[in-house]
Amino acid sequence: MKQLLPPGICLTCTDPCCHFNKGEDEHAPFFTEEQYREIMKRGFSREMMHYLPKRKVYQSKLRQNKGDDYVCAFFIDNKCMVYDIRPLECKLWPFFITKNQEKDKVMLAVDLDTFCPGVKKNLLETESGQSYVKYLIEFLSSEEIVSMFAKNPGLLHEFDPEFIYVGELKHITSAVFNKS
Ligand code: SF4
Repeated sequence: MKQLLPPGICLTCTDPCCHFNKGEDEHAPFFTEEQYREIMKRGFSREMMHYLPKRKVYQSKLRQNKGDDYVCAFFIDNKCMVYDIRPLECKLWPFFITKNQEKDKVMLAVDLDTFCPGVKKNLLETESGQSYVKYLIEFLSSEEIVSMFAKNPGLLHEFDPEFIYVGELKHITSAVFNKS
């Protein structure tokens, strides 16, 4: 998957993502059962994730870094220890796959109110931003991605009024809500 920012930029960033504020545990990334099993095979502790029975997915726990700064359990020595198998939502950030307000459609949303120095506030007004959105909508319509959400609807984020909604992911809507 093409990323919004080249990995080179992210790896040299001095104010990296994967950080959360105290109490933001619900914003930690979700993992499918398959991803959980793969991570366990690599010898990581079960204590780094917890199972969310209502969503039927796993979520990484947060660990205190310093003060009110918390990090994902897999963020160690300033890098992601599961980078090659990190969840789709980590690759997509600052984009999110969420339900709409009525909870009957799946949408692509973006949070431009971020500290990330690489994400421009006017992203959606630029030609490159618009073509990236187009690319993402097409990429997220692939059979592999649609089937992952059909099997794991608990990966979907809830509607957030702070996000900007850029388009419906119609194939995922159909698969999750059984619409033809
Ligand atoms: S899984 Fe990796 S990329 Fe995703 S939040 Fe955790 S440390 Fe960051």
